[in-house]
Amino acid sequence: MSNESYDLIVIGAGPGGYLAAIRAAQLGMHAACVEKGTALGGTCLNVGCIPSKALLDSSERYHQAKAGLGAHGIVVGSVELDLAAMMARKDKVVEALTRGVASLFRKHKIDWIRGTARLTAADTVQVDGEAARVMRAPRVLVATGSAPSSLPHLPFDGTHIISSTEALCLPKVPARMLVVGGGAIGLEMGSVWRRLGAEVLVVELMDHIVPGMDGQMSVALQRALKKQGISFRLRASVKHAEKTAAGVRVIVEGEGTENEETCDVVLVAVGRRPYTEGLGLREVGVTTDAHGRIPVDERYATSVRGIFAIGDVISGPMLAHKAGEEGIAAVELMAGVPAGVNYAGIPNIVYTWPELASVGLTEEEARRRGHELRVGSFSFLGNGRARCMNETDGSIKVIAAADTDAILGIHILGPHASELIAEAALAMQFEARVEDIARAVHAHPTLAEALKEAALDVAGRSLHR
Ligand code: FAD
Ligand code: NAD
Repeated sequence: MSNESYDLIVIGAGPGGYLAAIRAAQLGMHAACVEKGTALGGTCLNVGCIPSKALLDSSERYHQAKAGLGAHGIVVGSVELDLAAMMARKDKVVEALTRGVASLFRKHKIDWIRGTARLTAADTVQVDGEAARVMRAPRVLVATGSAPSSLPHLPFDGTHIISSTEALCLPKVPARMLVVGGGAIGLEMGSVWRRLGAEVLVVELMDHIVPGMDGQMSVALQRALKKQGISFRLRASVKHAEKTAAGVRVIVEGEGTENEETCDVVLVAVGRRPYTEGLGLREVGVTTDAHGRIPVDERYATSVRGIFAIGDVISGPMLAHKAGEEGIAAVELMAGVPAGVNYAGIPNIVYTWPELASVGLTEEEARRRGHELRVGSFSFLGNGRARCMNETDGSIKVIAAADTDAILGIHILGPHASELIAEAALAMQFEARVEDIARAVHAHPTLAEALKEAALDVAGRSLHR
């Protein structure tokens, strides 16, 4: 068993861990990254962001070819689904990107240690598996991410009661899918399988879907998804599920009623939990909170000197870009470089069609915090480019502080909202006023003009409303 010394050991090669390792190497540290999976990239690249978006993009094209091109005067003959080819394309995208991370590691001379890491002291990591070894470093960064949460009465069985991981590689289109949880995973994976032909019912505990998002936008997204044939049961949950000859029999309960549903597959998408199993945290004295997260200070230091943590395993939104920014900030701070993450400016996106993207406060949260608001909005119906695309569903909402014109939040439901939100995030990063967006020259005809119009509407001077 070898014994090796580094400046930094990163545990976990998700977007938090692998970006931290690269930044550490750029800063001159001799870094190693221990990963127990067979590829680099973590949840995001292997079973999260990337495969889900690959399937969303493919299923959107299929749906367009089947039902969306007539309005453009394009008559398509018979359109057929080759699910195996669609899945193979998705796998190829994943493979190219995970290999890309491996080549970045080689370029930066970062050692990729294949195995499962366990802390045995503040500066010592034991790796089990093929590459078994003991490694030492004055700093260890825990970036072990998260795993799907399950419900006690709906344990995952991998075929009929599944998590997002299995929903990314179903061998055939289910006739009927029941999704528990109307959050990002439920709506994205529900959209994929709906577009490919499944009947989809989403059961959501709260009184609206994507509960963390702006209420008005969430209602509008639900309406758009309903038009696509997705059904919803709000203020409801699944009480019981059992496998029968006809499929899975599910009891849905909510608002004092119970009803029985039969489906081929139940996707449980009720959130994710921090993953620290077998890491030896307690043994070395690292505390965790009631949710299993690792508490850290503003330098991402845990309760044990020399051990740091970032990403899904600490508090905050479970997002790849949040994990990555934290990884970069943590190692920069270790190296004495001034750094930090602007938590108020983290965009959040649900990649449905239309997409829902937001940055900053929702209107509800801004009011709750006592701000006096001015709110502007603009519908894509009034946007020339959206008309050209025949994608007029949705709108943009800009929330400003009435006294200072500061941007408190921007919410976009519409085509390519995931790309449009970058302008809003940049404006918030520069602490721009709404007037700055309203005065900036936006090219014509573009979807981005709808953001300018919403900004103009804050001052009551939208030109196309
Ligand atoms: P992870 O990516 O979870 O990586 C942790 C890594 O640590 C894993 O590879 C794991 O194998 C490894 N590990 C754990 N324990 C050990 C150990 N003891 N030893 C060695 N290795 C270990 N976020 C977005 O921002 N945009 C999206 O579009 C998006 N889509 C998603 C879709 C799905 C279906 C899912 C499930 C998630 C999605 N997310 C998305 C969330 C995103 O994937 C996570 O927020 C992100 O991956 C967290 O990064 P991380 O580095 O903290 O952890
Ligand atoms: P989530 O927290 O986004 O949504 C879970 C939903 O399930 C919530 O709406 C919640 O009210 C509901 N719920 C909880 N318990 C329930 C119950 N018993 N019955 C019915 N509904 C219930 O979690 P997720 O969708 O599983 O995603 C997990 C994490 O992955 C999230 O933190 C998310 O940010 C991240 N993710 C992000 C993206 C993206 O950025 N596009 C995509 C997928 C996942």
